[in-house]
Amino acid sequence: MKKDIGSIIGKLKDMHGQPRCELNFSNPLELVVATVLSAQCTDERVNKVTEQLFKRYRTLQDYIDAPAERLEEDIRPTGFYRNKAKNIKNIAGELVQRFNGKVPDDIDAFAAVKGIGRKSANMIVGLAYNRPAVIVDTHMIRVLNRIGLTKNEDPEKIEQDIRRTVPEPMWTALSLLIILHGRYACKAKKPECAKCLVKNDCDYWSGGKGNVR
Ligand code: SF4
Repeated sequence: MKKDIGSIIGKLKDMHGQPRCELNFSNPLELVVATVLSAQCTDERVNKVTEQLFKRYRTLQDYIDAPAERLEEDIRPTGFYRNKAKNIKNIAGELVQRFNGKVPDDIDAFAAVKGIGRKSANMIVGLAYNRPAVIVDTHMIRVLNRIGLTKNEDPEKIEQDIRRTVPEPMWTALSLLIILHGRYACKAKKPECAKCLVKNDCDYWSGGKGNVR
C-alpha cells in the first residue's frame, strides 16, 4: 500500500496533538542528561528528578566535578543510577575534550560519543537544534513495522528507510508522533486499532490483525 506520509502525520496530530518530546529541558545539555536518564524510566519520573537536578548542575563542569556518589544519589529514582551517572560523566568529559564544551549539532559526530548512540544523537540534535532527525526507539520499531513504513527491525536500517522514503522536513514530526502513538495507542500488547485514525493507512489493520484483538 502506498503511504501518504503527510496524511498520516495529520491524523496522528489529530490523535496526539502537536509533535513533542515529553522530557523537560531548556538547553541542549539538559536534553542530553534527560535523555540518558530516560533509559528504562518514564519521562514523568525523569522530569521529577531533573526539576531539582538542573538547579544543582548547570554546566558540563558541574557534572565532571561532582563526586560520583553524589550524582548517583541525585539521579537514583530513575534506576540504573550507577551506570547513568558514569555515562553522564563520560559524556560531559568527551564534550569538553572533543567538542569545545558544546553539545554538537552534527548527528553522526555526536552518535560516536560513548553512551550516546544514534537514537539519542538524533533526538538531541533534532530537538535541541531543530534539525531533521529520525529517532528510532522501540515504539518506532514496532509502529512503523505495523503501519508498513519499514520491514526492518534493526534501528539503523529503519533510520535509512525513513530517510529514503519520507521527505526530510517531516522526519522529526513523524518520529515524535509515532513515539506518542506507540506510547498511548499502538501499544505493544493491545494496540487500540478500533479507534485509531491511521487504521486505513496501516498494514497491520488491513491485514486483519487489528480485528482479532
Ligand atoms: S491500526 Fe492498530 S496497529 Fe495500525 S497504527 Fe493504528 S493502533 Fe497501530
